[in-house]
Amino acid sequence: MTPRDQLLALNDELRRLRADGQRTVTVTAETLGQLHSAVTALQVEESAQVPLVVPSAPVPPKVRSASSTAPAGLAPIPATPPVVQLPEGDKATRWAALRDLVINHPVCQAHVRPGKKVVLGTGDLSARIFFCGEAPGADEEIQGEPFVGAAGQLLTKMIQAMGLQREQVYIGNIMNWRPEMPVGPGGVQVGNRPPTTEEMNFCLPFLRAQLEIVQPELIVALGATAAGGLLGAGTFKTLGEIKGRWHEFSGKPVMVTYHPSYILRNSSNRSKRSTWEDLLQVMERIGLPISDRQRNYFI
Ligand code: URA
Repeated sequence: MTPRDQLLALNDELRRLRADGQRTVTVTAETLGQLHSAVTALQVEESAQVPLVVPSAPVPPKVRSASSTAPAGLAPIPATPPVVQLPEGDKATRWAALRDLVINHPVCQAHVRPGKKVVLGTGDLSARIFFCGEAPGADEEIQGEPFVGAAGQLLTKMIQAMGLQREQVYIGNIMNWRPEMPVGPGGVQVGNRPPTTEEMNFCLPFLRAQLEIVQPELIVALGATAAGGLLGAGTFKTLGEIKGRWHEFSGKPVMVTYHPSYILRNSSNRSKRSTWEDLLQVMERIGLPISDRQRNYFI
């Protein structure tokens, strides 16, 4: 990993922690020293200022609200969300029409990173469970499919622990393209950021249309951003306020739990078990059989 990659990974992790309600991070003197070396190496390497906010001391992450602003200089998002009219026909026909609409939508096309893909949800069009994440990441915008990177692999494992296959559920995102970043040195967009309220509101009709087609029995919101997009960003301050409880979106029950990326970073037994308990509630709600082994499971 280059110093740039290391710093970008750190930046992503801090953003995620903040999104998931974590307020403090503990940084040892040794880590600070390593950070300093990485920044210095990058400055030497690029002879330029690092386009990242790297903490020089333990920083209490603020709760990330969905109203985070997009970096300056990006094309604006239209204030009026698209109106989606699904054609008559079976689920496959309607989903294919929606996919064409979303993939080719001029606003999605205008905002997707050059050479990358707009991403619609995927899975069983008659799924009982609809997992909803935040936005495509680097792997997803390449493959054009949600949750195919490391977080996706953990999500697949969580689904399998529920006694299901990934193909038996539906997996989508609040937003359909990877949130843009300003173009950095070499004409490349670097880093990640959460979707803004405007971006999520723009994409919401696409999510509603997927729900209309799939008609799941319930939705699992993965992390604070997905929960904010579904329930309204202003309706909670920390994920802890809403996690592990039932809410509602579009007439469907919504269980809010941790994002798999959060579990990957914070692989404490507490976060794993807590997520699993949320999924047990989901299984109970739709009457999936739960063995003793599953009851005692840790992701
Ligand atoms: N994280 C998300 O929220 N969605 C994806 O599709 C991938 C990672």
